[in-house]
Amino acid sequence: MKIKFLGAASMVTGSCYFLTGESTGLMVDYGMFQGKAEEMGLNSVKPDIDFDKLTAVVLTHAHLDHCGRLPLLLRYGFRGPIFMTEATKALAELVLYDSAKIAKEEELKVVLYTDEDVEKIMKQVQLVEYDKPFMVGEFEVVLMDAGHILGSATVLVRDTKTEKLVSFSGDLGNTPEPLLDPTHWVTKADISVVESTYGDEIHESRDEVEELAKIVAEAEAEKGTVIIPSFSLQRAQEILYIFDQLKKQGKMVEETPVFLDSPMAIKATEVFRDFPSLYNRKLETQAKTDDPFDFPGLVLCDTMEKSRQIKNMVGTKIIVAGSGMMNGGRVIHHVVSFLGEPKTQLVFVGYQADGTMGRLIKDGIKKVNVWGNEVTIRAKIKEIKTMSSHADQGQILTWLGKMEGLSHVILTHGEELPRLVLAEKIRQSLPGIKVDLPLLHDEIEI
Ligand SMILES: [Zn+2]
Repeated sequence: MKIKFLGAASMVTGSCYFLTGESTGLMVDYGMFQGKAEEMGLNSVKPDIDFDKLTAVVLTHAHLDHCGRLPLLLRYGFRGPIFMTEATKALAELVLYDSAKIAKEEELKVVLYTDEDVEKIMKQVQLVEYDKPFMVGEFEVVLMDAGHILGSATVLVRDTKTEKLVSFSGDLGNTPEPLLDPTHWVTKADISVVESTYGDEIHESRDEVEELAKIVAEAEAEKGTVIIPSFSLQRAQEILYIFDQLKKQGKMVEETPVFLDSPMAIKATEVFRDFPSLYNRKLETQAKTDDPFDFPGLVLCDTMEKSRQIKNMVGTKIIVAGSGMMNGGRVIHHVVSFLGEPKTQLVFVGYQADGTMGRLIKDGIKKVNVWGNEVTIRAKIKEIKTMSSHADQGQILTWLGKMEGLSHVILTHGEELPRLVLAEKIRQSLPGIKVDLPLLHDEIEI
């Protein structure tokens, strides 16, 4: 077998791997490159693979950097099945339509695909359940709960010709986490393609509820604004659930408004409500009697008008807005309105990729230029690191350590430093295992 790396090799976006056996080709994810302009230019480049050999695609989860290029498969003549879980399908549909809409609204030079393309490609989707194997040519494939976002999966492939087992981690969750079931272990695999986003970090123990309580208390004391740039899937729902708890526990003034200023996050929350069986036990029990994503003071900004009105509102307010890395979305106009004020707290709750506005601000830039407005940043910049939905170094090592028979690890989905650090750590703690760090377009024989 061979694996070709068509994205997320020495970077965190554009996930796409092509696994080939004797007569079967399986593509795992076909995600969008995001961040740096030169990487985004790669989105419209046809992958250098033999499309006649592409039997099927399997999607690990609905994040844009994993599913964002799927509609382009039409252009390359692929009419085969695209396997995913039901929750992933519901979320991927939102993500892809949103991506088509953004391209149209922002009049991007390269419009990758339209609504019609999304509609067409979704017809090729075939639903699969966790832990139920299915055949793709000579491969037996099974999806297991990765605990990363709703519906997310690790992909385990058995080549029935050679009996080799290959696992693709997908994005691994920061397990145990507040909404979902814990990450399921792969107990046997020869080769593992594993993500390394936080390969050089150990997350601090989770205390985001307390950290957010402090931030809210500070905002309430000085009548300030809290801006939380948030991913629409998972992170936004985690934040809603925290505010739900804080208000119930009396740690937050009931009247303090929380604006969920992201049409996609609003829709994604609806999808979450449709899949209580994927929640962890505690949340599943709570959801039977109380909606964990709704509380007094929550304002859903489903229109641009409601979003614009936020800036006229005096007093304490919390704004949860997309995009999560501030490279677009409604959070941008809140940058203009609020980041110049010292009473504003800008709170990062997720990964900020190289080249995004979020990363620049997190790294301490003092001025940003938005739509011709120069904004001097006087806001307090904060970060809640423990909300990561990615496994850290220890969790990745634990995940790999559960695999009986593992002889070869291939590190992807990480920037160069985290990946190098993790590679060294694997060599130390799992001796005898070969570790590869492929670059874009590399092909590795396994
Ligand atoms: Zn992800």
